Amino acid sequence: MYDAVIIGAGVIGCAVAQRLALYKGKFAVVDRAHDVSEGASKANSGIIHAGYDAKPGTEKARLNLKGARMFPQMCAKLGVLYGKPGALVLAFNEEDKATLEALLQQSKENGVPGCMIIDRKRILRMEPLVNPEVLYALYVPESGLVSPYEFTCALADSAAENGVDFLLGRHVTGLEHNGSHWMVRTEHGDLACRAVINCAGAGAEPLHNSISTKPVRIIARRGQYYLLDHEYPLRFTMTLFQVPTLMGKGVLVSPTTHGNLLIGPTAEDIPDGWDAATTRQGLFEALDKARLTWPSLSTRTVITNFSGIRAHEANGDFVIGAVEGAPEGAFEAIGIESPGLSAAPAIGEELGDWVAYWLGAARNPSYREPTPIPKAFGQMSDNERAAAFENNPDYGRMICRCEQVTEAEVRHAIRRPVGATTLDGVKRRTRAGMGRCQGGFCSPRVMQILCEELNLDPTQVTKFGGDSWILSGELADGAEDLA
Ligand SMILES: Cc1cc2nc3c(=O)[nH]c(=O)nc-3n(C[C@H](O)[C@H](O)[C@H](O)COP(=O)(O)OP(=O)(O)OC[C@H]3O[C@@H](n4cnc5c(N)ncnc54)[C@H](O)[C@@H]3O)c2cc1C
Repeated sequence: MYDAVIIGAGVIGCAVAQRLALYKGKFAVVDRAHDVSEGASKANSGIIHAGYDAKPGTEKARLNLKGARMFPQMCAKLGVLYGKPGALVLAFNEEDKATLEALLQQSKENGVPGCMIIDRKRILRMEPLVNPEVLYALYVPESGLVSPYEFTCALADSAAENGVDFLLGRHVTGLEHNGSHWMVRTEHGDLACRAVINCAGAGAEPLHNSISTKPVRIIARRGQYYLLDHEYPLRFTMTLFQVPTLMGKGVLVSPTTHGNLLIGPTAEDIPDGWDAATTRQGLFEALDKARLTWPSLSTRTVITNFSGIRAHEANGDFVIGAVEGAPEGAFEAIGIESPGLSAAPAIGEELGDWVAYWLGAARNPSYREPTPIPKAFGQMSDNERAAAFENNPDYGRMICRCEQVTEAEVRHAIRRPVGATTLDGVKRRTRAGMGRCQGGFCSPRVMQILCEELNLDPTQVTKFGGDSWILSGELADGAEDLA
């Protein structure tokens, strides 16, 4: 019997789990995917929004501000890279300027410090490659950046280090309350618990509606991206937004914490919340819109495309707390679209404390502070590299040339508390396969290390679990088929 089971191992589920670990109890996170951060939390812009954009008085605005303020300290504790390069929201006509003024007013009401409207001359001094037809911009100095999946994996590790179970590869098919406790039905057996917490992102609607007298409608809104290779110096140092639309914050051009450029996302409502495909039309649309910001944009340095699914709640705000009209012990954080990443630390703190209070859980006296993720070899100075090698000769074997990832880091990623078990899992924890060749060089080596560490046969290694096999058999088998 668990005290609480969290459904969904995205940034929200992991933030709630990390907070709950502060308390005594038996907790689990369950996810249909075979790793943490396989939903929206791996495929977003990674912006820690300052909070100028959310409507004053909403949960989005309140939790965005609170969460964004928590990020620097949390990232320092977890050993996750965080930066605050600032952002510009660009206006190309007088109508856009009126929107900037409304956003500036909103930033004041929300309590975002430092925002101001600046003119073309100043914009081009800050970012010389911006379209010279720009007229004005809202300058947002508090806008930050994080790697969303690195942050989510670090939260999961911290929760697991404190005894939270991660039950991955388990699709939750139903929830039932038997009068005394909850049964979380999964394809691989049921989990009994006192409290259940729905953090299932785009999959949250059926779970909510099966237990609540107040149904919700979660609309799957897909966003498609281009990722450009890292270049030094970076062409842009700040996040460049266009003025927001009814569908969201619009297409941006933004650096990432690892020095790549990100272009996107689109915003298209789709019927299937798991359909994270990219489409010709979506990608053309993203490019077209981004060229208003950056007219000389070329696709020469594009290394991959991807898409993520926003869980847009029809009324437009986050839904957080006890599930209305459900038996007691049901909680949720649903409809967590942007700025959900920015708000995650605050949602985790508030919902985790709320559930702990409901459970009557005391503080966990043996709680361990997070073990920070070791500095990446690619980020080390020469002296740090020499010292790392001295300590562990596996730092002397390069696995991913593009991103400078060593064998020591790949092995560490697999041995972490919620360790990588797939090629994508290693990629998100180390960046091996994230670079220009997209795993062309390092995948066989990473597969070999996965086999050694997890005692697998090469044919058992997958890209992201399930039947996403990399190999289908021996070369000789294929040759026999051909003969
Ligand atoms: C294109 C895009 C851009 C964004 N940009 C930003 C940004 O720059 N800044 C920002 O602050 N926010 C941004 N966001 C929002 C942010 O990504 C989300 O708010 C956040 O990732 C939501 O986290 P989550 O844990 O709720 O959802 P998810 O990460 O989607 O996690 C939900 C998990 O639940 C699991 N699940 C679902 N159903 C079931 C089931 N029945 N059984 C078991 N498991 C289940 C899924 O497998 C998934 O792992 C963006 C989102 C998108 C899509």
